[in-house]
Amino acid sequence: MEQIWITLPDGSKREYPKGIRPSEIAASLSRKLAKEALVAKVDGRLVDLSRPIQDDALVDLVTFESSEGQAVYRHTAAHVLAQAVKRLFPQAKLTIGPAIEDGFYYDFDVEKPFTPEDLDSIEVEMKKIIQEDLPLERSEVSRKEAIDLFKKAGEPYKVELAEELPEGETISLYRQNGFVDLCAGPHLASTGRIKAIKLLSAAGAYWRGDEHNRMLQRIYGTAFESQKDLDEYLHKLEEAKRRDHRRLGKELDIFSIHEDAGPGLIFWHPKGGLVRELIENFWREEHRKRGYDIVYSPHIAKLDLWKTSGHWGWYRENMYSPMPIDEVEYLLKPMNCPFHILMFRSQTRSYRDLPLRWAELGTVYRYERSGVLHGLLRVRGFTQDDAHIFCRPDQLQQEIMGVIDLARFMMKSFGYKDYDVKLSVRDPNNKGKYAGSEEVWQAAEGALIGALTALAIPYSIDEGEAKFYGPAIDIKVKDALGRGWQGPTIQCDFNLPERFDISYVGEDGSPHRPVMIHRTVLGSMERFVGGLIEHYAGAFPLWLSPVQARVMPITDRHHEYALRVAEELRAAGLRSEVDTRNEKVNYKIRQAQMEKVPYMLVVGDKEVEAGTVAVRHREAGDLGPMKVEEFKQRAEKEIKEKV
Ligand SMILES: [Zn+2]
Ligand SMILES: [Zn+2]
Repeated sequence: MEQIWITLPDGSKREYPKGIRPSEIAASLSRKLAKEALVAKVDGRLVDLSRPIQDDALVDLVTFESSEGQAVYRHTAAHVLAQAVKRLFPQAKLTIGPAIEDGFYYDFDVEKPFTPEDLDSIEVEMKKIIQEDLPLERSEVSRKEAIDLFKKAGEPYKVELAEELPEGETISLYRQNGFVDLCAGPHLASTGRIKAIKLLSAAGAYWRGDEHNRMLQRIYGTAFESQKDLDEYLHKLEEAKRRDHRRLGKELDIFSIHEDAGPGLIFWHPKGGLVRELIENFWREEHRKRGYDIVYSPHIAKLDLWKTSGHWGWYRENMYSPMPIDEVEYLLKPMNCPFHILMFRSQTRSYRDLPLRWAELGTVYRYERSGVLHGLLRVRGFTQDDAHIFCRPDQLQQEIMGVIDLARFMMKSFGYKDYDVKLSVRDPNNKGKYAGSEEVWQAAEGALIGALTALAIPYSIDEGEAKFYGPAIDIKVKDALGRGWQGPTIQCDFNLPERFDISYVGEDGSPHRPVMIHRTVLGSMERFVGGLIEHYAGAFPLWLSPVQARVMPITDRHHEYALRVAEELRAAGLRSEVDTRNEKVNYKIRQAQMEKVPYMLVVGDKEVEAGTVAVRHREAGDLGPMKVEEFKQRAEKEIKEKV
């Protein structure tokens, strides 16, 4: 029999008979792989495990470990979903069913939306289909055969999809026991390979996402390799719902958004305002310590300025329309950078003046489509914790290290322990689309890499992710649920100094071009606080809690003492108040727990007599009686340590 050479990912080569299937290769390698392989990547293309290999090839067996494996697994579950729906609702018309992040969906054209009970019975049917362990059989047909088949089956959407495929292209069908779908594949070998599934929700969705088309019914679901992993994921979903900053923001009275004012515009209520003020004060103080100056700039500027900066050319779709003032057009600022450059240019700068580190909590406005707006996370007006550093090329690496250190300090201060660092560089095959010479790009990348290396920070490289004006370090922080949030960014920029022709006088007495670093360490106040609410599930650490201690008198006769305690705490700088309502203490505690007040101080006869408070913590529960002074010290320590 004719032999072919199969190269494995580790570079080793093995000889197999021509026509060998990836599943057989897996079995020849290890029992574990035979069990775990879901699909194969043959010369970079994903194919079914049953697809014979005819020529020498590079073969990689893909498991659930990889996102590609997960996508194939979940897409196969979408086929099972479609089959289950057709069994229970034979009139339903099939459309498409892709895998998505963490799951899959399938869109059906049905007369009535699916009810939660429908989803339950569909899920039961899916489990039956998995039990039946039906192989997914691939066949190839001509376009005409595909069209005829789906016409006969009464599946107009499939006919439409088949008609769009180019003439002469191989069209594949996948069958599982009578159920046929038009699909390029690949899939798992059989339905029994799916271990754990769950349908999550149903929602309306337009055919092809176009509101002029018919409204379909989309069923979302997910699938995992084990019930345990599925349960963990469902728990995480629940937890994410519980932490949703839009819900908590309302419950805790932190912020609101008003249709009357416009979407994507944030109103900070007193409690949210306080949290923000605390973060801003901390931010300012830390910047001062690290040699930054704080500046303020206007909210509007002439259109011409934005032409000089390039924003009008590159960024116009995110900017609001010009407004005429004294017959000159002005724009609302989407960024603070040009303003800081104007300030830099207002004087002659010497090499001795550099670096200049200018920070601004600058409020900017950017157009975002209404469909992508999301609570505090995607908004139309927000305050960036911005800064621009103007430095000499020989200072660049040191400055970047300083920013990274500040960013790490900030993340730690807000309880973010884990993060991923990415270095965004040019697309090596398309260097022409970037501003600046090869030399300056190499210098900037060198400085960024040098800084990361000097600080021993592991990073990955993202090719093609650099801005047109320079490379960047992007940090993604992980929250308490392990979800990634856009965090600090540090960008080198050679373009704006060029465009605005700014310079400093060098040691040699002639003008030199400074490098500009754009950076944020929090992002924006809106997004950052939105993230914090979810990270802490609304229970801010003591230093950020709007109310730090609530004193709760048991009866009227303890009011006076309670007020005195609160007064004493306030004098020590602790945000405290008294719940004087004529309610049972248990009720007061429940309410304070709901409001996530860190400390509840109950006072009754015993406490009045002894000059103590009965301390209760929102998580730790009853901490017993303490002298007021003792509690004060405990709280002060906690605030100082930001825990
Ligand atoms: Zn498919
Ligand atoms: Zn900037």
